[in-house]
Amino acid sequence: MYRILVSLLFLSHCAIAQKLNKNDKQILGYLQQQVGYLSSEELKGRRAGDPGEILAATFIADKFKEIGLSPRGGADGYFQPFSINDGKSIAKESRCVINGFTLEQGKDYFPLSNSTPISFNAECSPSLNEKGLPWMIDISETMEENKENPHFDVSNMLNEKLQKAKDKGASAVVFYNSSPKEDKIFFDGKDRSEKSALPAFYITHAAQKRIIKDPSVSYQIEASISITPKVRNARNVVGYLDNKAQYTIVIGAHFDHLGYGEDGNSMIRNGNMDIHNGADDNASGTSSMIELAFLMKASKVKRYNFLFIAFSAEELGLNGSKYFVENPTIPLNSVNYMINMDMVGRMNDSSKTITIGGYGTSPNWKTMIESVKKKTFSIRFDSSGTGPSDHTSFYRKDIPVLFFFTGLHADYHKPSDDADKINYTGMLHIIRFIQQMIEGQKEEQKLVFTKTREQQTTTTARFSVSMGIMPDYSFSGNGVRVDGVSDNRPAKLAGILAGDIVKQLGEHKTSSVESYMQALSKFKKGDKTTTRVMRGDKEMTFEIVF
Ligand SMILES: [Zn+2]
Repeated sequence: MYRILVSLLFLSHCAIAQKLNKNDKQILGYLQQQVGYLSSEELKGRRAGDPGEILAATFIADKFKEIGLSPRGGADGYFQPFSINDGKSIAKESRCVINGFTLEQGKDYFPLSNSTPISFNAECSPSLNEKGLPWMIDISETMEENKENPHFDVSNMLNEKLQKAKDKGASAVVFYNSSPKEDKIFFDGKDRSEKSALPAFYITHAAQKRIIKDPSVSYQIEASISITPKVRNARNVVGYLDNKAQYTIVIGAHFDHLGYGEDGNSMIRNGNMDIHNGADDNASGTSSMIELAFLMKASKVKRYNFLFIAFSAEELGLNGSKYFVENPTIPLNSVNYMINMDMVGRMNDSSKTITIGGYGTSPNWKTMIESVKKKTFSIRFDSSGTGPSDHTSFYRKDIPVLFFFTGLHADYHKPSDDADKINYTGMLHIIRFIQQMIEGQKEEQKLVFTKTREQQTTTTARFSVSMGIMPDYSFSGNGVRVDGVSDNRPAKLAGILAGDIVKQLGEHKTSSVESYMQALSKFKKGDKTTTRVMRGDKEMTFEIVF
């Protein structure tokens, strides 16, 4: 689960204690084994794209094979590979030579993180800075002037200098700082700000001292420097059970987790790099999905086909499930409904209550859930088809969804989410419940889809206002891509649509979700402002009333 869920609806039925039969005991053993392995130190927290994720994916694919599911990931068998944008890095082949000295990339020089590609061979001098040539700018004086200024922002300063240089005809800029005072300029691989006005790179103080000794003479500079996107390669694991039926039921669970917390999604921010084992989140759902695959393969009821999907990169923003629905390996219009299990391993033994989300996505859910005769837990229903996990991606394609979840706990997104805290009997009850619900459907029937309200998330609750948009957390370009808009909220009322990219709110640039959140915090209820949005390649401005 990638973000915390709030707001729940009504309660239903009461729990009845039950004895376990031999088959149930066997399943319990498998669940323990699988969760034990997936959340072991060996898999190092299954971070998407890391070796631990590949080990987990291989383990799941082996299970699918053992069950007899056919590979449905595409050309790569059970695996459906996809790439995740991981920021950017300096292109390896970049080069910078000054007066015959080859500078060392990263150590002696680096491009500004938002620079356009740099390519020139010219004679330049800090004292001349002529039209049509690259300029050399020493920032030491500006740094000195602003040393007491609490509002001074070094990247704004560089951008302003670039704009001025451009206005005066510079073709590129070489920045350096001749004073030993720390300026905190570095290459930020996560930078998403708008492209710089001119190609620009920075020469570190150490290199400047060696090479640019005299500002009154000229230097022969040959520079060919560029920035390339950095990607991580992840994979979903997809297995198909073909019962020659018309419709297919998708049963999914994400199998990735946080690794050591490198992506900034850990709840522990003490600087320690500890493995986040993710036993509940989501070895529990993954293992339950595997056991359901065994049960559905053995089931006498063959009314539907089944597609079992272990999603990766859920923790980064539902990347795996988004990739799947955009690149489906079966026709999406043949999907009857999708069942998602995320964090199903912590059923509380005294309250015996679970949450089922997506209840409002089909009027048929009520009958189907009521058809389950053996009730072993109470259910809290949440109608919304959206939420902090992979069912959201299917809901957005107008597919009815159900989301099984046993609740948040103190170990959520911490290294202490371990296998010894899992309630395996609780997992078994959920597996049996889903099995009975599927088998209880009397005839082949395609569920009716209904739209629901958008799930509100706790992130918006910290602010006094919100726009009523669901940001696309997997979007890596400049701006905030809108995944969905809520009815009767400022964004919708203003005319903003899903797919729009919000670039600015009032005077604040919104280059990422983080800067968008910061911008929102500047407004209060009743405030009026404008927002600048890209729709395709068209720039639009909307009036917003909070
Ligand atoms: Zn999670």
